[in-house]
Amino acid sequence: MIGPMAGPMKRRAFTLIAIAMAALPAVGQTDSSSLAASAERQLPALTDTYKQFHRNPELSHHEEKTSALLASDLRKLGYTVTEHVGKYPDGSQAYGIVAILENGAGPRLLIRTDMDALPEVEKTGLDYASTVRSTNAQGQDVGVMHACGHDIHMTVLLGVAREMVERKSQWHGTLMLIGQPSEETIDGARAMLADGLYERFGRPDFVLSEHDDSTHAAGSVAFKSGPMLASSTSIDVTMRGVGAHGSAPQLSKDPILMAAEFVVLAQTIVARQIDPQQPAVLTVGMIHGGAKRNIIPEEVTMGLTLRTYSDKVRDQIIADVRRTAEGIAIGYGVPQDRMPVVTVSQTEITPVESNDPALTDRMRKVAVGALGPDHVEDADSVMGSEDVGLFSLDGKIPAMMFRLGASDPAKLAHARETGVPLPGPHSPLFAPVYAPTITTGVTAMTAMALDLLR
Ligand SMILES: [Zn+2]
Ligand SMILES: [Zn+2]
Repeated sequence: MIGPMAGPMKRRAFTLIAIAMAALPAVGQTDSSSLAASAERQLPALTDTYKQFHRNPELSHHEEKTSALLASDLRKLGYTVTEHVGKYPDGSQAYGIVAILENGAGPRLLIRTDMDALPEVEKTGLDYASTVRSTNAQGQDVGVMHACGHDIHMTVLLGVAREMVERKSQWHGTLMLIGQPSEETIDGARAMLADGLYERFGRPDFVLSEHDDSTHAAGSVAFKSGPMLASSTSIDVTMRGVGAHGSAPQLSKDPILMAAEFVVLAQTIVARQIDPQQPAVLTVGMIHGGAKRNIIPEEVTMGLTLRTYSDKVRDQIIADVRRTAEGIAIGYGVPQDRMPVVTVSQTEITPVESNDPALTDRMRKVAVGALGPDHVEDADSVMGSEDVGLFSLDGKIPAMMFRLGASDPAKLAHARETGVPLPGPHSPLFAPVYAPTITTGVTAMTAMALDLLR
């Protein structure tokens, strides 16, 4: 999921620590040039794979062909692949895949990619742009696009998978590659865990993942120790009224007017009820109501996303959302049995993603060794969210997600100068500079895997 990147666009100066580390024989250094060269050799095949994923995006819960393609490529590389891993709360099967490569005694490393795309019409104008259309969960006809770069993540995973097969003499342990469905609806990781992921395939000692990022240049990676991504909570608010003819408002309790008021008042919750020192975002992203111009409808439903870094703040905002909706209904004289319905999703919910400090520190050193100090940056905390953190079982398993730079360096420099950001994840214009992004991802992730499975 990940949101548009917050924080200063300014390139961070390298710390003295990074410079000092570069002077040391960094972990994996001996192999770093061959790693990069090898990723480069893989690029033509990975480009084909990337474009195939990009042209054929599938929405969350529907990653049927995507997961089959990923599974088939991993099987060809010699991995033992299990498909259809994951169960949603309604009992339906998820398209999760698990690919295992055993290589003697040693640690077990989980590397995760997500697989789903977004309901958006692609506007990049690229010759490999998606023209796919589909029906979303609300029954609407929508365009579908890999606007979050999960196609990059899958391609990187395949590149890493091949490197690790070819380098079996350099590591020992078990590699556990995960294709996770439904990240954008933040219920895919939970679905895989609920289907006995760790009971069936073993509990990992480490969890690694990456996310592409338009605020960093392709060729670079970025790290953040500790909390990096906010918790996410999905809330539905239905303002219920009394329907009537559009010409007779006195006979109605108009839910469209109430919803309009709710949208505005909801913005005062973060602005006026929450400690400004506590980051929080409340966005109304969907609003549906009415069927005809001259009918005052019975109800209007709104879909909200809430992001915070604290459970206390999250709970306070949920209570404020309920109070605001109810207050509006009371003000409009809505009958007691038509009070608003506020539902907090128990499936589309994810905690703060926090990177294990020791693992982050170690992996950062590995990245410096593999890419050079000029290509390792600091990442900001953002209000975007991810469900990858669930694989850490509340921090019991060290987990780390790094940011994978995806922007053209010259365009990024210009954007930093002008303050006009480049299109990022979830924009219909998001177009990662795929070649250096993919080779950098493969090089960095392979170096990390080799280090953890030494
Ligand atoms: Zn996303
Ligand atoms: Zn994403």
